[in-house]
Amino acid sequence: MLKRVFFIAAAAFAGLVAVSSRRGKEEESVDNEDRVVRTPAEWKARLTAQQYYVTRQGSTDSPFTGTYHSLKTKGEYLCVCCDLLLFRADEKFDSGTGWPSFWGPAVARNIKSRKDVSMFLERTEVSCRRCDAHLGHVFPDGPPPTELRYCINESSLRFLAG
Ligand SMILES: [Zn+2]
Repeated sequence: MLKRVFFIAAAAFAGLVAVSSRRGKEEESVDNEDRVVRTPAEWKARLTAQQYYVTRQGSTDSPFTGTYHSLKTKGEYLCVCCDLLLFRADEKFDSGTGWPSFWGPAVARNIKSRKDVSMFLERTEVSCRRCDAHLGHVFPDGPPPTELRYCINESSLRFLAG
């Protein structure tokens, strides 16, 4: 009986290892495309202090700072760190929060999300797929058609009119 339990446990462990190594391979295949990786010193040289604080250290802009939250001009919002297309004016809406808000990304696969349990809150953090820049959070209280609200820091974005 004991032997049998041990066998089942060992088989379950082997299965877990197989699943986690498979997952690792999937991430690798995505990462291999065009990742942008820089040292903290290199990022500091390219960004303002606030942009570095937000994108590389996961901080948050104060609401109603900057101009993007109320901007209605047609155009695209790129990652301030690596220029990857993240959002478009077409999906932007005025959430009244003081942060640039979108109901969806320009290209879904350009944005990564993960659970964030800091500040005693359970939220979903979104970041740039190419360079891991912290962008903001996504909440389930947005308008149609997605009902999502991507609450994004202006310091993480570079607006390109057109
Ligand atoms: Zn980026």
